[in-house]
Formats: sequence, C-alpha cells, structure tokens
Amino acid sequence: MSRHGGMIGRGLRLAAMVFFAALASVPAQAQSGGQPAGCPQPQPTAPFDTTWPINIGLLQQRLIAYRCNDYMTDFVAEVAKARAFVAERVPRVEKPAVVFDIDETSLSNWEQIYRNQFAFVASGGCDGGASTPCGQRAWELGARAVALAPTLELFGFLKASKDKNGAAVALFFITGRSEDPVERAATELNLRDAGYEGWQHLYMRPRNNPGANVSVYKTDMRREIEKDHVIVANLGDQYSDLIGDADGDHAERCYKLPNPFYFIPPGLPAAGLKCLAR
Ligand SMILES: [Mg+2]
Repeated sequence: MSRHGGMIGRGLRLAAMVFFAALASVPAQAQSGGQPAGCPQPQPTAPFDTTWPINIGLLQQRLIAYRCNDYMTDFVAEVAKARAFVAERVPRVEKPAVVFDIDETSLSNWEQIYRNQFAFVASGGCDGGASTPCGQRAWELGARAVALAPTLELFGFLKASKDKNGAAVALFFITGRSEDPVERAATELNLRDAGYEGWQHLYMRPRNNPGANVSVYKTDMRREIEKDHVIVANLGDQYSDLIGDADGDHAERCYKLPNPFYFIPPGLPAAGLKCLAR
C-alpha cells in the first residue's frame, strides 16, 4: 500500500488548510476547558428497563449521563494502562511505534454526536447551531473536534521517549476517514489545532477500498508499519481498530477505549484478542 501523503500536491494541501482554517469558526480547543455538550447530566436513579425492545429515548439519557459522569474516568484508566506499558517497553525496543486511531481516540466528536442524538447523519451541513443536526463530512471538514486530553498527554510523553538506541518513537495515526485531499487537509489541521504534532504518518482509508471492512484496511496499514518498526501499542475506541489477522494482532498490546455512542463493525471476536491480554 502506498503512503498516501505522496499522492497530494503540497500547494493544494496548503490552500485547503488555509481555507478550512477560515471555516473553523470555533477553535478546536474551545471545549477543552468547559463542560461537554449536554452536561452536567445527573445519573438516572430509576432502574433501567433492558427488556427488548429497549426504549431509545431512555437509552440516550443514559448515554449522555455516562458521557457527563464516567466516560473520562474510564478513558483515563485505559490510557494509563497504555502509558505504563510503553514507559516500560519503549526503552527496550529498537524502532518502536505506537498507533493511534483518531475519532473518539485522539479527537472527541462529542459535539456532533450530541447534536445528532447518536444518529449517523451522512450528509448535510453543520452550521445550523447547537440544536441542529450536523452532517458527517461537514463536521470533519470543519476541523472542530477537540483533543481527548489523556491521549494527547500520552502522545506528548511518547514524543519525549527514547528507544533502545536513543532514537525517537514513531507515532502513527490510522483512521477510517476517507483519503482525499480536502479531508486529509482538514484532518491534519484538526490534529494540529488540537495539539498533535510530530506524527510519522497519517493513514487514511482509500476511497476505492474494495468492499473490505475497516479492520482489514487498518490491519494492512499496521503490517505496512511493521516493515520498519515494532508496534508496541495500538489504541482505538472500536474493536475494529484492534483486530488483526491470521498472523496476529500486529501490535504487542492494544487498548480499547470506551465508546458506547456508536459502533463500527466487526466487534470483538469470540476468541478475543491476544493483544488485549494483560
Ligand atoms: Mg475511532
């Protein structure tokens, strides 16, 4: 698989970055210090009826309460496990790499998720105000997702870490966002605005990815990385970020971050994942 960055004209990328910088009326860090959309929301005290069919309105209330109250605690705990492992492992490996998913791993799209009340809105704009739906592509091109602070902190820790030979750790993003010049420019802009700098490569899913599910593409990219690196950790909010192939999971350890807000198949295989073993 080719490195996608070589496919894009530098001038076009810069022009698109300037354009989307102007479009992004809300700075990416704007929410970092404040409450997430919909918060505070107290935990429901009434018992939740899980009898099928589950009432979707009551489930939405539960999810918003989880986001407001427990989500970051769970997120911090999982990233802390990753940090403990890489801190011990990276100095003992030659050419280590760490792989990060983007959405709900490195960047939070909660503003959009809340506006859409957990629905996937494939098309349409995203400039109608806080109580209106927000189309997927318009949201991504707006480059307004905020950093998930624990992941950003881990990213910074890894940038300052050294491998067995005193060399830097290679940091990669592998995202299911589509590879095209405009989407790439907006995604890179969003990552940088959120504080992520110094990654080795950003892999984006080819638009002609022939019918394969996203985990196949993500595994292929990890195999590409493994040609020159040892992937010591892989972080994602979906099992499809972490699933490998018959040769293994293509990461020494993997870390499943919480995300009950949407699902990208496939889920956890019945046999589990070796990279999750502790
Ligand atoms: Mg994700």
